[in-house]
Amino acid sequence: MSDTIDAVGGVPLDRLAARVGQTPFFAYDRQLLTERIALLRATLPDEIELGYAVKANPMPAVVQHLAGLVDGLDVASAGEMLVALDTPIGADRISFAGPGKTDDELAQAVAAGVLVEIESGGEADRLVATGERLGLRPTAAIRVNPDFSVKGSGMRLGGGPQQFGVDSERVPALMDRLASAEIDLVGFHVFAGSQNLDAGILCEAQRRTVELVLELATHAPEPPRYLNVGGGFGIPYFDGDEPLDLGAIGDNLDDLVTNAIRPQLPDARVVVELGRYIVGECGVYVTRVVDRKESRDKTFLVVDGGLHHQLAASGNFGQVIRRNYPVAVAGPAAAERETVEVVGCLCTPLDLLADGATLPRADVGDLVVLFQAGAYGLTASPTGFLSHPPPVEVLV
Ligand SMILES: *Cc1c(COP(=O)(O)O)cnc(C)c1O
Repeated sequence: MSDTIDAVGGVPLDRLAARVGQTPFFAYDRQLLTERIALLRATLPDEIELGYAVKANPMPAVVQHLAGLVDGLDVASAGEMLVALDTPIGADRISFAGPGKTDDELAQAVAAGVLVEIESGGEADRLVATGERLGLRPTAAIRVNPDFSVKGSGMRLGGGPQQFGVDSERVPALMDRLASAEIDLVGFHVFAGSQNLDAGILCEAQRRTVELVLELATHAPEPPRYLNVGGGFGIPYFDGDEPLDLGAIGDNLDDLVTNAIRPQLPDARVVVELGRYIVGECGVYVTRVVDRKESRDKTFLVVDGGLHHQLAASGNFGQVIRRNYPVAVAGPAAAERETVEVVGCLCTPLDLLADGATLPRADVGDLVVLFQAGAYGLTASPTGFLSHPPPVEVLV
């Protein structure tokens, strides 16, 4: 990744900052989003439906744009569901996953006609009761907690004991119990991990996921019509990270659909659901240098943003070891390079955005830009911490 950046979406950064009217801000690149989906379409088999996991970036304009390009949206709260329902995507192409759905949230989903991904036996019972109360038949899939886990994922959401999904060995009994209930059980959902850069591991996880859901399908009262095999595709954040080999994943899915799924379930929708991979590299976080100071042997660039807007870049969003996200100074760049600490404006040493980064010399007033800010940025950050004003988000 370059240590300078000129433009986002073709708009020079200083001009974009003037247009936004303030720093800090997040800028998401519409064209890059479109190209990302085109890449996925070109590489994954035609039969695979592409779902966008809204929690990665729920900005309404981003969700609206993506809604025109993907086949479905996955939401994780009633708030996200409202954003998804405002798009042209049909409610039957919206799925609602996540632990702790309240009765009110379930009622909103059932009334909307959204597919509910059941996370536990208790939730299944509350969903059925909600449908009875509303006089509507809920549509649901069982989210399965697999009996394997996916190594190499930044975050694990499957295998072993989990708050996510119904343990695979309990699924047949749950299906029996629901067989006589007023509920349309359409299939299964497995999402076992996030931020994985190893195509070999992801392919193996997909293979085991397909084996598992096909085995569970033999216990279902009717052939499943919906198989959501998850995602977890990672993006490179750090020096030395290699981008995911998407081609290998496409070949693997092609083989699984053709040789495993279709012989048993000729008509089921097969869904891959991605958040970070779609939006992560399409956004930047733009800050301005407020102070430049020398302290002992180090040079500090103090910017007007920080971890309250972009927690992940500070290394405090699930990372075990803090490493720098790619960072740049907005052009035209000074020829002189220097090693600096880029820190945010919060009164905590945790607010470190780049540690020992080599950048073109930047002065007060210059723009410092953090890459890979399109996913789990603003909405995954503690914006209330230290009571600074919120940043602006724009889709360019
Ligand atoms: C968070 C989440 C995703 C998206 O994960 P990414 O790693 O951003 O692709 C997909 N599905 C479910 C159920 C999720 O909770």
